[in-house]
Amino acid sequence: MFDLIKRYPWLPSLEEYYSDISSKDPLEFIHEVFKSDKVGFLKKRILSIFNAAFENIELIQDYAADNLNIYLYIILRILLYVLDNKSISNRIANLYSKNTYNELNEDRDYNLFKIYQDLNLEVKYEEEPIIYKKRVIKDQEEIFKTKFKIFFIDYLKLASNLKDPYRKLVNNALFEGYVYVKPKNLNRLIQEYVRIKLLTQKKINLERLKELREQLFKNPEFKDLFNEIKNLWEKKKEDFEYALDTKYKRGKDMLKTFPPCIEEILSKAEEGQNLIHIERLYILWFLNALEYPEDEIINVFSKLPDFDREKTEYQVKYAIKKGYTPYSCKSLKSYNLCRAIEKNDELCLKGYYSKTKEKQQEIYHPLRYVDVMEYRNSRKLKNSKKNLEKQNEGS
Ligand code: SF4
Repeated sequence: MFDLIKRYPWLPSLEEYYSDISSKDPLEFIHEVFKSDKVGFLKKRILSIFNAAFENIELIQDYAADNLNIYLYIILRILLYVLDNKSISNRIANLYSKNTYNELNEDRDYNLFKIYQDLNLEVKYEEEPIIYKKRVIKDQEEIFKTKFKIFFIDYLKLASNLKDPYRKLVNNALFEGYVYVKPKNLNRLIQEYVRIKLLTQKKINLERLKELREQLFKNPEFKDLFNEIKNLWEKKKEDFEYALDTKYKRGKDMLKTFPPCIEEILSKAEEGQNLIHIERLYILWFLNALEYPEDEIINVFSKLPDFDREKTEYQVKYAIKKGYTPYSCKSLKSYNLCRAIEKNDELCLKGYYSKTKEKQQEIYHPLRYVDVMEYRNSRKLKNSKKNLEKQNEGS
């Protein structure tokens, strides 16, 4: 268990096997760790997790099942608590739990069984795999077998947060109170458990939080780390915190409302030119944010030289499921994808006047561009209707 907990520090047995670390008061823990020689390695690993989460990367690059991993997990929880930012917590919990899922899928059956037991799940292991389902597609028989089965109540508890129809009890092989599952499917449920665990913090009392921060900031190393994460977030948050009013409607020509950066990529795709990875992600996330239907997004990619319908379908579905938001103008400029100057686009270059804010606003996000253009077009339409009505009255 000692080694297993190093790899999976969210296991309940952490408190029993590493009680010297886990039962410490958070203040005492942080002061001790951030004064020790571990601090440099830990800071590097923690920053790489935050960086990956803010960049939509779904992998913790230097994940290692060492002693530091336990410290790292506890520090992450403390940081999420004191950062007190739901968007950040969600991103970290998603990334960390996804990483856990990958780790679990690589693990041996013996370890998996120990993990399920530690989570107090009633899981049984058969020496020989049991066939629990057969499916025939185009004369090809697919056989599903597993060595694991889980008591249905425990299955329901774990699956309650996941809404996919195939996870419903009625869509699974249930026999004598046990659900037959492949470890991969069980691990996906554990992923959700880990995600929720990272998100669930004691109710935050703002006074207490302020006090705790002040105490923690007495350690300059911790304060630096906290501020570095906050700065990283400030640079990226526009990408995530954007609320869009404009949505796709079938039959409506939205192209006239698109900013030059998107126009350029769309015309390259239309001409069958190759697109770099960032351009592909940008266009996919952009159209997805406008709620373009799946088939229309896939069509955009259909003329690319390396188009593979199955692969594209998978990627589009995945992006829709994840709900990624497109890059902000700041990010697009850093990727050299902004075309405002080349196209001499007035809205991009000068911004727009906002009545509500009573001042000129800059375009900081391509979706804001779409919103403003939508608004301007609807005003033009209203005005031309009014003019037409006046003309009719006069004639
Ligand atoms: S300013 Fe923003 S919206 Fe306009 S072209 Fe540049 S990146 Fe695109």
